[in-house]
Amino acid sequence: MPPGKRFIIVFVVDGLRPDAITPEDTPTLFRLRGEGVDFTNGHSVFPTVTRVNAASLSTGTQPGTHGIVGNQTYVPAVDPTRAFDTGNYRNLVRLDEASGGRLLLVPTLAERLHARGLRLAGVSSGSTGSAFLLNPKSPSGVGVLVNGYLDPGKTVAYPPEVSATILAKFGPAPVKQAGATRFDASVTWTQRVLREYVLPELHPTVVLNWLTEPDHSQHHVGVGSPASREALRNDDREIAAVLATLDDLDLTASTDVLVVSDHGFTTNTAGVDVARFLVDAGLKASPDSGDVVLASSGQAVALYVEGHDGERITRLARFVRSQEWGGVVFTAGRAAGDPRGAVEGTFSLELIHAVGLGDFVATTAVELPYGRKRALEIATTLALDPEMMLLDEPTAGMAHEDVERISALIKRVAANRTVLMVEHNLSVVENLSDTITVLARGEVLAEGDYRSVARNPEVIQAYMGSGHA
Ligand SMILES: [Zn+2]
Repeated sequence: MPPGKRFIIVFVVDGLRPDAITPEDTPTLFRLRGEGVDFTNGHSVFPTVTRVNAASLSTGTQPGTHGIVGNQTYVPAVDPTRAFDTGNYRNLVRLDEASGGRLLLVPTLAERLHARGLRLAGVSSGSTGSAFLLNPKSPSGVGVLVNGYLDPGKTVAYPPEVSATILAKFGPAPVKQAGATRFDASVTWTQRVLREYVLPELHPTVVLNWLTEPDHSQHHVGVGSPASREALRNDDREIAAVLATLDDLDLTASTDVLVVSDHGFTTNTAGVDVARFLVDAGLKASPDSGDVVLASSGQAVALYVEGHDGERITRLARFVRSQEWGGVVFTAGRAAGDPRGAVEGTFSLELIHAVGLGDFVATTAVELPYGRKRALEIATTLALDPEMMLLDEPTAGMAHEDVERISALIKRVAANRTVLMVEHNLSVVENLSDTITVLARGEVLAEGDYRSVARNPEVIQAYMGSGHA
């Protein structure tokens, strides 16, 4: 690390719940939270599962933008008969090859840094798939990726020279035994590689450090169990050791530390065999048939219908909604600007297009022009399908063409809901309002269309002062 440069490390504690951070189990995380900024209003992406979140972390975009939409996904070019597991990086490599290098549809942070001569290191004890998504271009020389399970004992990192050095210095990563309750040894091997090799010798600018616990133990024996709490304690000790290494390397003052979790955890009391239900209802020929292919992410299931058969999609949506276990259903959009899906009672998958952002699917939200950011805010609000929408000066600070576009958008979304907005730009008010009611000191002063209200002497007196004509 050249002097004067910033260093950023992001600890991703897989499956960490906020209430698991306590002085007893996780004193380091507890201290970091107290000393730093606690982001209490964070929201998961949907569906909020590991690989979807890994891709969101590495690209800074939503699933619909980066393209990884489940822990399983169905791509006929990879496997025509069934959905594949995104936790195995070999499937992701196949998808990358089948799609001409478009595993992720947008560039990752690793690529952005690489283009500026900087280096990202993904260092992960997680599945090979979640690790690979942190830096999928690492095999072609973009930054670094460390994961002991890519090809155990042979490939534990990209590029190959980094892998060879790690194997020579640290040996192979400990085997993840199928029935093991905890993967602490995998975490510890990976963190040692980070502390003793990646940080002092590879000088990355950004490290995405993924700790696979407590996810594994919480899946295995439950959230809050003694085993998962012990795994958390091990994480905390490992994170403390990394911070101590940063201190030894004189990096503490120039380091930003972020701690995130890819998702929380809850306890399940029942499971649903969705494929079985569909077969029994006559909506799918057999559990492995290709007419309807299921890709499960746990609580969210994607259904791929052969030939986009509209009639079958309608029957499927109706069936899922009739089931006790069925939740919100999304289908293709009904029409531009409409949050409803094509099938009655479902939501549109294409809300993003409703607000004219279709050309920006590959743009990170933070890089959108100002006017487009406001359109995105309106889109995310529309996703909740509100009956009433409150807008606080939606055109403030906008360039003229953005004002026109946002005004047109508000007019469209107001077609089937009430919009209450505060607006100081009177031409916007004129353009958008059918009937204007002017209030002063809690009383109705005047009511009518814009022209009559604007000419009303009492309105002019109240709002513009007596000096105005
Ligand atoms: Zn996870």
